[in-house]
This record gives sequence, structure tokens and C-alpha cells, in this order.
Amino acid sequence: MKLIFLGPPGAGKGTLAALVAGLYKIPHISTGEIFRAAIREKTPLGLKVQAIIDAGQLVSDDITIELVRERLAKADAGNGFILDGFPRTIPQAEALATIVAVDAAVNFDIADGDVVSRLSGRRVCKACSQNYHVDYMRPKVDGICDKCGGELFIREDDKIEAITKRLEVYRAQTAPLIDHYRKAGKLVDIDARPASGVVLESFQKVFPVK
Ligand SMILES: [Zn+2]
Repeated sequence: MKLIFLGPPGAGKGTLAALVAGLYKIPHISTGEIFRAAIREKTPLGLKVQAIIDAGQLVSDDITIELVRERLAKADAGNGFILDGFPRTIPQAEALATIVAVDAAVNFDIADGDVVSRLSGRRVCKACSQNYHVDYMRPKVDGICDKCGGELFIREDDKIEAITKRLEVYRAQTAPLIDHYRKAGKLVDIDARPASGVVLESFQKVFPVK
């Protein structure tokens, strides 16, 4: 099962990828993880990536694609994989098509308004980094961590302006991939609004575990 996961920040894509990877015994491959592994293993590409990041620059498409190619050639990806965070653009999708034919692109569908209320409600403990949510996972005392009594705060990334910015980037850059894979007959829409257990059930209905 060779899959691409698409969806805006806050859609719960990472959580689902971890659940699906465990259940279907295929690796969850995110570009962040590929970069970190290449850097850690000091491969020739890893050294290049390290230099680019140290210089505060963005890793180019060519290098990213080369890293993805190397990662997909590893034995554990032989039975399938979940690509998360790649491709992000149409040129990347076209490059990927020259490496491997994916079975489906799964679109974790959620409206911007739902993303904003989901992410802007997140609170994190300053002391122990425990996560809370003002609607779904309230602490016993407002603003105070249940585990350690630390103060809860809103991460910069979870402030409404930052969320709006990330959604704009996603809609402009990555959302065209939805049409791209729909035209190719490979798009599967999954409603990402419910809790992760329910989203996983919808996923399993489309992709039964063999
Ligand atoms: Zn805490």
C-alpha cells in the first residue's frame, strides 16, 4: 500500500499516519524524519542538508527528491509506505511519479475554521510540555498543568495569526495536489473532523487490513 497523506496543519495527519503505520506494518515517512536520519548517518546527502540548514537556507526540491528516492529504496518500504509532508508541490509530485507509482493520495479533509478552533485551543505546559486543549482536554484548574502544576501557555505556532498564515501557505501550495491526484483517479477523501479513532475507522473502511 503506497500512500501519500495530504491535509492542512491541524488535520491530525501525523497522528493518523502513526496509527496506520502500526496497523498496516508500513513505515511512516516524513521529510523531517528523512532529513534528520540523513544528517545523523552523515550520508553525502546528509552532509549537504546539514550545510544548507546551518546556512539558514531551504533544502531544494532536487535534494529532497534524492533523499526520498534513497528512503523509498530501503527494505522496509518494500511493502508500502506513507509519505507525509511530501510531495508539497506539483513539481515534487511529478518527480515522485518518476520514482514510484503510488496507490492513493489520502486527503484528510477539514475546513479552515475547524483547524483554527482546534489549534488555537491548544495549551502547553511551560515546565513539562504536556499538551491540553480548552475544549477537548481541559486541565483540572484553568491555566495550570495537572501533572506538574506548571503554567500553561499558547505556542507561537498556535496563535491565530500563525495558524492563518500556515493555512494560506497550504491552500496556495499544497491544495493543488488534491486536484492533481483527483484527476489521476487516486484521491481518497477522509473526513478529518472527528476524533482520531473515528478517522481511523473511516480509513479502514476504504483500506481494509489484509
Ligand atoms: Zn506540566
